[in-house]
Amino acid sequence: MPDFTPAAPPSLPALLPQAARPHAVVIGSGFGGLAAAIRLGARGYRVTVLERLAEPGGRARVHRQDGFTFDAGPTIVTAPFLLEELWSLCGRRMADDIDLRALDPFYRIRFDDGATFTYSGDQAAMRAQIAAFNPGDLAGYERFMALSAETCRIGFEQLGHVPFGHWTDMAKVAPGLARLQAWRSVYRTAAAHFRDERLRTVFSFHPLLIGGNPFAASGIYALISHLEQRWGVHWAMGGTGSLIQGLVRLIEGQGGHLRCGAEVARIETTGRRATGVTLADGEAIPADVVVSNADAAWTYGKLLPGVVRRRWTDAKLARARYSMSLFVWYFGTRRRYESVGHHTILLGPRYRGLLRDIFTRKHLAEDCSLYLHRPTATDPSMAPPGCDAFYVLSPVPHLGGGQDWAAQAEPYRQRIARRLHETLLPGFEQEIVTSRVTTPQHFRDDLLAVHGAAFGLEPVLTQSAWFRPNNRSEEVERLYLVGAGTHPGAGIPGVISSAKVLDSVVPHASALA
Ligand SMILES: Cc1cc2nc3c(=O)[nH]c(=O)nc-3n(C[C@H](O)[C@H](O)[C@H](O)COP(=O)(O)OP(=O)(O)OC[C@H]3O[C@@H](n4cnc5c(N)ncnc54)[C@H](O)[C@@H]3O)c2cc1C
Repeated sequence: MPDFTPAAPPSLPALLPQAARPHAVVIGSGFGGLAAAIRLGARGYRVTVLERLAEPGGRARVHRQDGFTFDAGPTIVTAPFLLEELWSLCGRRMADDIDLRALDPFYRIRFDDGATFTYSGDQAAMRAQIAAFNPGDLAGYERFMALSAETCRIGFEQLGHVPFGHWTDMAKVAPGLARLQAWRSVYRTAAAHFRDERLRTVFSFHPLLIGGNPFAASGIYALISHLEQRWGVHWAMGGTGSLIQGLVRLIEGQGGHLRCGAEVARIETTGRRATGVTLADGEAIPADVVVSNADAAWTYGKLLPGVVRRRWTDAKLARARYSMSLFVWYFGTRRRYESVGHHTILLGPRYRGLLRDIFTRKHLAEDCSLYLHRPTATDPSMAPPGCDAFYVLSPVPHLGGGQDWAAQAEPYRQRIARRLHETLLPGFEQEIVTSRVTTPQHFRDDLLAVHGAAFGLEPVLTQSAWFRPNNRSEEVERLYLVGAGTHPGAGIPGVISSAKVLDSVVPHASALA
């Protein structure tokens, strides 16, 4: 296991005043962009983060409404040592700024027939749950978790933060991937270990958390089971937005700047070297290095108009597979629902068929599987006293499916409301005091995500590691990419790891000063 003890704060080039340091521009303030800014600041750069929206966080920004706090996106915090590392790079401790609580259980998975699997990090409780579903699967569970641990060791701890800058890097890891049978889908990996169809679902749904189809995502993503068990599932008190605020404060503490309402229209180049950016209002900002945390396909497709692209051509971007999108309904109720846990997965009648509709047919199905988030189960500060904050999320096709969300949003919201009323929240609609929805159009129009994909490029083996847009741009020198569409991929641990890759590929500022 790698050493996760906080690194000693690096010696900043204190000799150079901020204004004399090489300038790094980071486009976008998602978790990946903020983590990149901190790493560049720690390596001696003067850092400017440019964010087109009015507030930082990207998918993790916050909607405040009628006294309720709604985290727009991520709610499940795993591998917290990756965040801790960012604090330690600034010579601080995360615990001084963030109250991170381990959740127990992690979540409940409710099947269509009402049976519920309580998923936790407690091995005895997990075995009891599996025995309640199918005692014959206990041995398979042990084997599955051993495989998950080994996959996590190789796929996450060893390879998650190393640059895949050449095809030979893939060749080097191929034997390891072959040993882990990474070409099998996560579902097939689960099916090889569990006979009970419901347990196959419980141990294969995880890729959905990062935009992958369990029937297509590489078995390597089975590592998430171990990742959760090993380091827990956490909640940041005050919401995920408190982590974003904490990271912004770290950047400011390093002397870096975050500018919101600043949309980058173009990355400027001289020859094939990035030299700065131009904002949509025409302002030119020179830079020694540029890091794009914008959607990777958008970065190549839209932000480099003057560059003839050798690898990420328009044709290749058009052929690429993009992750699903999401429909998210945020609502607050004037009463509390104590029987509903913090994280609930509410499965519909179909698993494989629904995923085929979403990912392959790009058809908006009549049935749905939902993730219900009730942060007030852990953190009453997310709502006014006596109230509950919720969001319910439904995976839906990306905009390539042609759905007209302006027309579909309200009927779809009503369908979800019916489902919640019939299952966990009878009569809840009368209790709602605030409400808003997000559709795939928001991912396209606000976050500038190609096809409104919620997680960038789909995580399949043929779009992983070297096959994904590299963290050091293949097209332009001094241009680097971080975030969900790059290696290693989506999710908070993934995008923070993508920023960690920069330490290996961006020259230290002293080399450019
Ligand atoms: C609803 C939802 C729930 C999720 N739940 C979880 C979870 O529980 N746990 C988990 O680990 N992950 C979760 N994820 C995934 C995770 O949130 C994302 O993978 C991750 O936050 C993406 O970070 P990123 O660094 O790629 O940046 P993003 O969040 O995509 O941010 C990119 C930023 O760049 C800005 N930008 C784009 N173009 C420009 C431009 N031209 N100029 C200036 N700025 C620009 C955008 O406005 C945006 O702010 C969830 C995602 C969603 C959508």
